[in-house]
Amino acid sequence: GHASLVDSIVIIGLGRFGQSLALELMADGADVLAIDRNEELVQQFNGKITHAVQADATNEEVLRQLGVHEATHAVVAIGDSIEGSLLTSSLLMGFGVRHVWAKAVSDAHGRILSQIGVHHVVHPERESGVRVAHQVRAQLKDYIDLGGGYALVRTTPPASVLGQPLREVHVRSKFGVTVIASKRPDGRWVDVSGDSILSADDEILVTGPIEKAERFHLG
Ligand code: ADP
Repeated sequence: GHASLVDSIVIIGLGRFGQSLALELMADGADVLAIDRNEELVQQFNGKITHAVQADATNEEVLRQLGVHEATHAVVAIGDSIEGSLLTSSLLMGFGVRHVWAKAVSDAHGRILSQIGVHHVVHPERESGVRVAHQVRAQLKDYIDLGGGYALVRTTPPASVLGQPLREVHVRSKFGVTVIASKRPDGRWVDVSGDSILSADDEILVTGPIEKAERFHLG
């Protein structure tokens, strides 16, 4: 495992995705170096993130001057220019940056990023569409695809499991899912055990095969 959280991250591109990434990492206590070629955007983020620099990330010399060649973690959040995304990613790979993430705006873009060797390719729009589709169709409060056919959902318990210790309900054998935690009306999440008794106004976290996890709340 990892001994500690990553504390220094380079973000290239301060569009909506890059901004949200940068601010969340800052809130989490990380050092963020953000690079965007748009002067106005960079001005706007001055003071909000550790370093915001106006530069063209496809320029190798510029990246070296900023120390990006020595970074261990970088995210390419350029979507408005596939060429810019690919050139920048390729430079990062050439520098030997150990952990490179890049946002893809299409399947083809994602495929080429992988071919360049980018370690983590994310498709934020596609992923968020999938997530919302499941929330809408199954009426879930939240849905996270865990890969491999498994999902984590935030939902409410079905009437058939209420009012008795969960071990007596045989949730695993009857529903094929695991209830991990429940959120009491006061907003606190608590671990769920065999002794736990759920009530109708609890929110619960459930994991299991996608369809089973999605349908659990229907009973
Ligand atoms: P989103 O879809 O998340 O809003 P965009 O893909 O529209 O993001 O934004 C990408 C950002 O990347 C823009 O702010 C743009 O100025 C920046 N950008 C694009 N090409 C380069 C480049 N070569 N160097 C630095 N920044 C770039």
